[in-house]
Amino acid sequence: MPESLTGTGIGQGVAYGPVARMAPPPAPPADTDSQLKPEQESARVKEAIQAVSAELASRGETAGGQAQEVLEAQVMMAQDPTLLEAVEQRVQAGKTGEFAVHAAFAEFQETLQTLGGYLGERAADLADVALRVIAHLRGEPAPGVPDPGHPFVLVAQDLAPADTALLDLDKVQALVTIEGGPTSHTAILARGKGITAVVGVKDAAQLSDGQQVIVDAAASAIITEPSQEQIDDVTRRIEERAAAAAAPLTPGALADGTEVPLLANLGSPEAAQEAVDLGAEGVGLFRTEFLFLSSDKAPSVAEQRESYIKLLQAFPGKKVVVRALDAGADKPLPFLNDAEEENPALGLRGLRALLANEEILRDQLTALAEAEAATEADLWVMAPMVSTVEEAETFTKFATQHGLKTAGVMIEVPSSALLADKILPVTGFASIGTNDLTQYTMAADRLLGSVAGLQDPWHPAVLRLIREVGAAGDHTGKPVGVCGEAAADPLLAVVLIGLGVNTLSMAPAALADVRLELSRHTKDQAEAIAQAALAASTAADARQAALDVAAR
Ligand code: PEP
Ligand code: MG
Repeated sequence: MPESLTGTGIGQGVAYGPVARMAPPPAPPADTDSQLKPEQESARVKEAIQAVSAELASRGETAGGQAQEVLEAQVMMAQDPTLLEAVEQRVQAGKTGEFAVHAAFAEFQETLQTLGGYLGERAADLADVALRVIAHLRGEPAPGVPDPGHPFVLVAQDLAPADTALLDLDKVQALVTIEGGPTSHTAILARGKGITAVVGVKDAAQLSDGQQVIVDAAASAIITEPSQEQIDDVTRRIEERAAAAAAPLTPGALADGTEVPLLANLGSPEAAQEAVDLGAEGVGLFRTEFLFLSSDKAPSVAEQRESYIKLLQAFPGKKVVVRALDAGADKPLPFLNDAEEENPALGLRGLRALLANEEILRDQLTALAEAEAATEADLWVMAPMVSTVEEAETFTKFATQHGLKTAGVMIEVPSSALLADKILPVTGFASIGTNDLTQYTMAADRLLGSVAGLQDPWHPAVLRLIREVGAAGDHTGKPVGVCGEAAADPLLAVVLIGLGVNTLSMAPAALADVRLELSRHTKDQAEAIAQAALAASTAADARQAALDVAAR
C-alpha cells in the first residue's frame, strides 16, 4: 500500500487513530445448497446469531438510555424461538446458513409488516439483525457505522445522510470516504461540524480495521504508516488547534495589526448564535435560498421581513451582507428556473433569473429595507452571479430605489473578475464567490466528484482573477471580500489578503483556524506569499510555493 493516499481535504483538521470501516450491506445470499452437513451449518448459524446478539447487547450497555432499549429489543427478536426454528428448518433442508437466515428473517419481517403498528415498525430492525448475521457468517464487517468501542477514523464508501446525522462526534476522530467531492453531503456535514475529513480517497478501500493512520485534511492526505516524527507533529498540531479554538475571540488581524474582519457564512437565522459564539464579527454571506426552496411560490414580504429581522437582531451594530436570491443550477426553483435548460449552470440563474422576475427581486429588497429600519445592524445587500457592468449597475439602482444604502455584487464569473475595475465604480462593494468562480474558470462542475481535482481555488488561473478584483478594490477604494470556501482555508486566506482582499467570510467552524494563521503573517509577508502562489503553474505548486514562503 502507498504510504500516503490522497483525496480532497475538508477543513484544516488533523487526526491520528485506528481505522474502522463502514461496510456496505452484504449482498443478498443466493438460494444454494450447503456444502456442509446440516449439523455443521446449524452450529455456524447459532454461533453467528449468538455473536451478533452479544455485540448488540454490549453496544446497548455502552450507549445506555433509549439506544439500549432499542438494541435490547433487537437482541430479543434475534433470539425468538419461532424465528430460530424457521432458520433451522431451512438448514436441515440443506440450505446454506446465509440463505436460511435471509429467507427466514424475510418471512418474519413480512409477518410483522402485515401486523402493522409498533410491530410493523420493528421489521426494519429485524432486517438489520439479518444483515449483521449474514455479514458475520461471511466474515465481513457488520453493516452501518461501526462501533469498535473506542475513538476511531471512520472509513466509508460514502455516508448516507441518516448515518451522518447519527455520528457520535466524541468517537469519530475523522472521516475518510472513497466517494464524494468537496460539496458532497459528507463534506458539508464535516465542514459544518468541524470534523476532520478527507473525501474522494479512491484508494481508501485498501485500509483495514485497526490500522493506525493520520488523516490530514489540510494536506488532503491519509498517511498509512506514520513515523514517530509524523505522529509527534500531528499531536502538536492537534494541541495547537485546540488552544486556538479555546483562545479569546479577538478580531481578525495580521501580525502587524492590519485588521481583517472575519465574518460568517450563514444559511438561516437560526445559525446566527453559533457564529457569534465562535467570534464572527458579522455576516459576509447570508444565503436567502432557504426561504424559497421549501415552497412552490415566493414567500411574502412579511414572511421574509420576519426572517431578516431575526438575523439582523443577532448582530447589532455589525455588518451583515445578505445575498439576493441565488436560484438555478445547483439550487433550482420551479417557479423561477426553466427545468428544460440543457446547461443550467450557464442559464437563467442568479441575478439573471431575478431580473427576469422583477417582482421577486422587488419584494425581497422591500423586506430587507423594512428589516433594516427595524434593527440596529449595518445591512449590505449583494447580487449573485453578476457577469456584466450593466447588471451591476441595474442591481445597485434597484437596491438604492428600495432605500438600501449599501449594495454590491458577487464576483463569481470570470467576466466580472476581469472587468472589476469597471464594475466597482458603479456599485458599492464586491464579494468574491470562489466556489463558482473556480467552477467557471476551470469549466469543472462543482458538484461532480470526477472533476473535483479541478475545483481547486488554489489554481493560479483563479488567483490571477482574484488579483484583478483586489487591485480594482485598491484603485477604487471599494471594499472587496471573499465568501467562498477558499476563505476557510487558512493559508489561502493569507494569500487572498495578499491579493488585496479586505474581509473574509466562512463557515463559522473555520474561524479559529483562519484567525490563528492570519496572526502569524504581516501584510508584507502576505503579499510575498501571494506573489509566490501567483507565479506557480499548477494548484499544487501554488500551495507548495505559499507554504515555502510562509515557513521562512
Ligand atoms: C460561491 O459561489 O463561492 C458562493 C459563495 O456562493 P454559493 O456557494 O452559494 O454558490
Ligand atoms: Mg455562488
